[in-house]
Amino acid sequence: MTRSRFRLGKVFGVPVRIDASWLLIFVWVAWSLAASYFPGMYPSWSTELTWLMALVTGLLFFASVLLHELGHALIARSQGIPVKDITLFLFGGVSNMADEPGTPREELLMAAAGPLVSLVLSALLGALRLLLRNGSQPLAALTLFLAGANLSLALFNLIPGFPLDGGRVLRAVLWAARQDLAWATRWASRVGQAVAYIFILSGMVRAFLGDWVSGVWIAFIGLFLENAARRAQLQLTLRSLLDGHVVGEVMNRDCQILPPQLTLDVLVGQFLLRGARRCFTVGTRDNILGLLTIHNVRAVRREQWPTTHVSDVLTPLADLRVVAPETPLWNALSEMTAEGVNQLPVLEDGKLVGMISRDNLLTFIRSRSELGV
Ligand SMILES: [Zn+2]
Repeated sequence: MTRSRFRLGKVFGVPVRIDASWLLIFVWVAWSLAASYFPGMYPSWSTELTWLMALVTGLLFFASVLLHELGHALIARSQGIPVKDITLFLFGGVSNMADEPGTPREELLMAAAGPLVSLVLSALLGALRLLLRNGSQPLAALTLFLAGANLSLALFNLIPGFPLDGGRVLRAVLWAARQDLAWATRWASRVGQAVAYIFILSGMVRAFLGDWVSGVWIAFIGLFLENAARRAQLQLTLRSLLDGHVVGEVMNRDCQILPPQLTLDVLVGQFLLRGARRCFTVGTRDNILGLLTIHNVRAVRREQWPTTHVSDVLTPLADLRVVAPETPLWNALSEMTAEGVNQLPVLEDGKLVGMISRDNLLTFIRSRSELGV
């Protein structure tokens, strides 16, 4: 599933993206600050000042989440684990690492870095608040709120349920104790699920007792945690099935290569409608220009099919992620997921040797589990 995300820019060389769901949380934070928190604490403020402070505070809260994630990302990079990007979404942020940590120590440092940044920020803002005691009231209000928000951010993430930071710390400790990553992940995920059920239950109880807003909110966080814990577990199972195998073992070798001058009406009539294949390469075996999928064709109006060549609408090779026959299957799957595509061309010395698709991976996994190998 591809989500709507837009790119904000780079911080310390790490691309920062915002998921559309994050806008919801921003509006919610700013709105609750403007509508209830600030008016309740500072009734003398004008409406303009209240809203201005709510927006500024909302933005700084966002910066706090970003700093938390940068803590993870920069420590990961210092441990030699490349960071693909940081994405901010509904429940905060997530740093996407290109690889899993190699040792319990790396995992521990990486996981602890985020909450540590939040704790330090909270302490600094708290100290600033004390210094501003007799100064400007809006500034003091801002620092007080952000000190509390950063403290909450640290404490929430330290809950020991995988995949939260605290759960990763737990996994690192279990991993170090038994030197078995799969076992450590299993138990850290189980604790994560247990924590999630506690959230869901207590949210329901709260809603039942009349506090609907926080009840539903807490239950919602619980559902999110439960889902995340289960996905982490599933991902590990998937990984163990794919581990040790490479793209060359499962890729399609009989790729159909289309000549660039072929028009779309011929493509649809002779190739797309006749076969099950939904994706083609364009060019020659030694010189692949790009990839053509049903989506490229759909983007062109039907009247223009007879005059449009496949070379006009293909996705150029330069814009595509490619893999090699010796690329591990797990990495190929991660690439497809990151790019939101269903297949990748396989190149060897610049020549196309095959295509790998999600279907290939599924068939491989199914065969392995059916045969029990
Ligand atoms: Zn974190």
